[in-house]
Amino acid sequence: MSQDGFRTEEIDTSRPHPARIYNYLLGGTANYEVDQQAGDRLASAAPEVRIGVRANRAFLQRAVRYVVSSGVRQILDVGTGLPTAPNVHETAQEVAPDVRVAYVDNDPIVKAHGDALLSRSGATSIVLADLRDPGAIIDHPDVRRVIDFDEPVALLLVAILHFITEAEKPDQAVAALRDALPVGSFLVLSHATGDFADRSEAQAVYNNATATMNLRTHAEVERFFDGFELVEPGLAQVPFWRPDTPPPARSGEIGFYGGVARKI
Ligand code: SAH
Repeated sequence: MSQDGFRTEEIDTSRPHPARIYNYLLGGTANYEVDQQAGDRLASAAPEVRIGVRANRAFLQRAVRYVVSSGVRQILDVGTGLPTAPNVHETAQEVAPDVRVAYVDNDPIVKAHGDALLSRSGATSIVLADLRDPGAIIDHPDVRRVIDFDEPVALLLVAILHFITEAEKPDQAVAALRDALPVGSFLVLSHATGDFADRSEAQAVYNNATATMNLRTHAEVERFFDGFELVEPGLAQVPFWRPDTPPPARSGEIGFYGGVARKI
């Protein structure tokens, strides 16, 4: 048993998990039959979804390079997902080897894979915690070991907020994390949307999963940046946020918004 009381023989394979569906769509192997079935249903309801998750991952990498190139040396990545090369610390440390990364996810399988992967160098940590309880993230000793909240931090909320319902107050969770960060910190955020195609069928795939899919409009996603100033080009479909390659096929249909903003 791990220190968080997680036993690998207790992995829940009865319901699809967001982290494992995403891993399947990216072509990973850390997933089970329920996740594969959910991923296949998703791909038939939203044919561009595999391109979309790759474009989201590429956005994450460009955004990480952007914030590290802007001088930030600490990253708090909430909603880490299963390891996918390159991981956030690998992308960041290619730009500046002294970047530290605290990873946070509420799925024990992510923590278990993270534990197996991350070095014990002190530059990274992985914590089992929930975005809906931001205080527990900010106060967690393994977050505090890596992140100094007196220095600028890049807060990553990439493809996570759509798993939080309005009733669970995602805006309050974001605001609590924002308030813990000094001016000059960054928010890197991406979010699923139905603005470009009717995605109610895709959304329904998550009804039976461990978290629901809450699509939001451009205006609804932009609200999460309260207290921050978006950098150019603002909140855009992920392939169009500071692209460094030509946009992939079907980019116009991709249902992920992404943006980067600086705390003011
Ligand atoms: N950020 C990565 C992975 C996105 S998949 C990327 O964009 O490539 C979404 C991740 O968020 C999953 O690993 C899932 O377990 C995690 N997650 C979902 N709801 C969460 C919550 N309330 N608190 C913490 N993590 C959550």
